[in-house]
Amino acid sequence: MGTKFIYDFEEGNQDMKELLGGKGANLAEMTSMGIPVPPGFTISTETCVSYLAACEYPKGLSEQIDEHLASLEKKMGKDLGDPEDPLLVSVRSGARASMPGMMDTILNLGLNDRSVEGIAAKTGNARFAYDSYRRFIAMYGDVVLGMKPQSKEERDPFDVILDEKKKAAGVKQDNELSSDDLKDIVAAFKAEIKKRKGVDFPQDPQEQLRGAIVAVFDSWNNDRANAYRKKYDIPAEWGTAVNVQAMVFGNTGEKSGTGVGFTRNPATGENEVYGEFLINAQGEDVVAGIRTPEKLGELDKYLPQAYCELLKIRDVLDSHYRDMQDFEFTIQDDKLWMLQTRSGKRTGFAAVRIACDLVDEGIITPDEAILRVEPEGLNDLLRPIFDNEAKEQAKRDGRMVATGTKAGPGAATGKVVLFAQDAHEIKAQDPDARLLLVRHETSPEDIKGMDAAEGFITQFGGATSHAALVARQMGKVCIVGCAALDIDYDKKKVTIVTGDGTPVVFNEGDWMSIDGTAGEVYQGMIETMPSEVEQVLITKTLDADKSLVYQQFAKLLEWADERRRLGIRTNADTPGQSEQAVAFGAEGIGLCRTEHMFFGGDRILAVRQMILSDSVEGRKEALAKIFPMQKADFEGIFRVMAGRPVTIRLLDPPLHEFLPHEADDIADVARELGVSVEEVEERNRRLKEANPMLGHRGCRLGMTYPEIYEMQVQAVIRAACEVAREGVDVKPEIMIPLVGSSREMQVMRELAVKAADEVICAEKSEVKYMVGTMIELPRACVVADGIAQNAEFFSFGTNDLTQTTFGISRDDVKGFLPTYIARDIYAVDPFQRLDQEGVGDLMKLAIERGRATRPEIKLGICGEHGGEPTSVKFCHKIGLNYVSCSPFRVPIARLAAAQAAVEDKA
Ligand code: PEP
Ligand code: MG
Repeated sequence: MGTKFIYDFEEGNQDMKELLGGKGANLAEMTSMGIPVPPGFTISTETCVSYLAACEYPKGLSEQIDEHLASLEKKMGKDLGDPEDPLLVSVRSGARASMPGMMDTILNLGLNDRSVEGIAAKTGNARFAYDSYRRFIAMYGDVVLGMKPQSKEERDPFDVILDEKKKAAGVKQDNELSSDDLKDIVAAFKAEIKKRKGVDFPQDPQEQLRGAIVAVFDSWNNDRANAYRKKYDIPAEWGTAVNVQAMVFGNTGEKSGTGVGFTRNPATGENEVYGEFLINAQGEDVVAGIRTPEKLGELDKYLPQAYCELLKIRDVLDSHYRDMQDFEFTIQDDKLWMLQTRSGKRTGFAAVRIACDLVDEGIITPDEAILRVEPEGLNDLLRPIFDNEAKEQAKRDGRMVATGTKAGPGAATGKVVLFAQDAHEIKAQDPDARLLLVRHETSPEDIKGMDAAEGFITQFGGATSHAALVARQMGKVCIVGCAALDIDYDKKKVTIVTGDGTPVVFNEGDWMSIDGTAGEVYQGMIETMPSEVEQVLITKTLDADKSLVYQQFAKLLEWADERRRLGIRTNADTPGQSEQAVAFGAEGIGLCRTEHMFFGGDRILAVRQMILSDSVEGRKEALAKIFPMQKADFEGIFRVMAGRPVTIRLLDPPLHEFLPHEADDIADVARELGVSVEEVEERNRRLKEANPMLGHRGCRLGMTYPEIYEMQVQAVIRAACEVAREGVDVKPEIMIPLVGSSREMQVMRELAVKAADEVICAEKSEVKYMVGTMIELPRACVVADGIAQNAEFFSFGTNDLTQTTFGISRDDVKGFLPTYIARDIYAVDPFQRLDQEGVGDLMKLAIERGRATRPEIKLGICGEHGGEPTSVKFCHKIGLNYVSCSPFRVPIARLAAAQAAVEDKA
């Protein structure tokens, strides 16, 4: 037998996602569980890959489609294209990983001018027959015949016709149109296709089916699918499966309906009935947010029997899959059908709650709970909320202008923008821009603009609309179904008529604030305040036992800590930051950048005096002024870090970063140095470098101005001795930056040891310290065996190591990186996610050679990658002792490290 391209639903199961896609595998699973699923078959992802490579059906596919179609016709007792009683099918995409709404779907396929009459006669419902036909023509026109709007100004041509007809008929909703109206619409749709594309709408169902399958294959490569894949790291090689399934109809009348639901609340994680439905509608109506649906609990009032069965299936799905599922259903003439299930997208709040609850319910183990939460999702729990007092004041001031359905928790303030494309462009120009996207509804085309906004708010749609789904996935603040919004896209303004009838106008660019946890919309900016977790841990303004969010966060991280092997340190430069990081679980400081201490208060004048003085004496005089301040900083940090290691890096950046540029500052320095302004300006000029990133920085400064490093080491060790005398355990680690040769390390170590030992001797102290280096140059990786002779630890500075490995400046990537990513030259920004193939290989080399010289050498990472989950997992794999990251990423790193350990066990 040749390649098997197609599987009936009876032939698959949930473990076949690679071949059948998520949707196909789960339809097969539900079929085998005895859940009512309309019959159908799945064309495999491999078939799509072959088709896309050759741009034609693989040999034998047509025959297999015919066979499986014949078997489907037999099961249904109807034939595709039968003019009296036709079989109608849906043709839907379904990749391995869920890509909601990114690819194409066609419903009601098989209808034509004759069979629509057959259906009308058979069902006695001409309205239903023509409603189905007009939907099919519009979808087919958009997806297969390329009638989709090409720009943000353009409207879907079928929507325009529909709206005109509704206006002429004097109705507001689609379902108020009569069968004659719908017949006219069908004629107008077909005429529009002929006018624009010069072809007749195809009447042959076999041709329709082939066109639809090809279009779904092709939609794997459309712009929005590409953008989505990039964002969520889905490989372009996977391809999509195609599901061909017998249609069931939610639009046959008042005993029918359609909806979507979740087995638990996807925003909060609470175990409750959650979802929504529309009576007399097809599935797309719910997701597209065209009519605002009703809450699922209300279905009981309309169709109690189907509702009761749905509740049972909800429980069965939740326990069978041992996870929160989302599902789609249709009720046709009181009979319930399930059309999809999959693991439901959820906010970080819900992910943590569901994972902890499932452990409490005895359904999953703590190991599984750890794997169930995306580390980045913990950000949601750390995200700011509105300052309650500021929000109450805004309410008192009458600035709360509307409410809507809460769909993405948190607080966001931003400037109103009405088009997703504009949001994307504004953000590209100004990465600090804070924007709120305000729309009737959102669609998959809007994905980039949604990513650029702090949050979004829609007029239509419910908690499972596109906007709500995307908000949960991207972790954005979101309100949907805010009926009070009146958006004028042409005049670029939004009017909200408040409860007391006052209209409030927002022009594009005006500030708006939204509380996604409460579903409230405010005029103007509102101050934000720390999350509950932060209030418990950092500001200590909330009791732990009053916050379930905190308790479950703490429980999950306790399980994580019990499992991880990697140590987690933090990058912190002040006692305040160190305290925060310890509260978040940091076990030490992996990088204290001492240059930040040079900018504080009135220190900068002394620093400038030091840099600009012409003699060693002049520099020492200035350094003597800085010394007590540095020492005090270190004392503060040692006290907070009591007993935990503290890695202090000696001065790194090029000196010109500290130079005075303003006339006043130059005059101050000149006065301090007793030289003329011109002289200072001249010295300023001399220190300027063409390429400071590769210039006079790091240990090169220590070589040329050894007195700077000596002062710093003395300050560190004196501080350590004094704090140790208070009875606090101190563990200083002195770190030399930008080392690239063994000799450099040797000289720097001698300098550091001499300065440190003199202090320890003078202080008669027992303090122990270590001297090590950053590894941030490719050459350092290659000669790591030599460097390790004088370094007790390595800390990978992957910011610089990425810069120097790729040969791209950290500060100048803006010009080309977006193009590189768009064109897939780089999969992702290597400064955000560690390039395991290149930079990672150099790290492995350094580890191997460093250990060859010094087997017990301590290894860590302190570049930004130390808080990025995939990079943390890589660090686990290559055997580092710890990762170090900014305080707010410590919980994320703890969870990622635990996932790496749990995945190792599996
Ligand atoms: C690094 O280069 O990765 C590093 C941590 O140092 P900095 O970012 O200060 O250059
Ligand atoms: Mg560096």
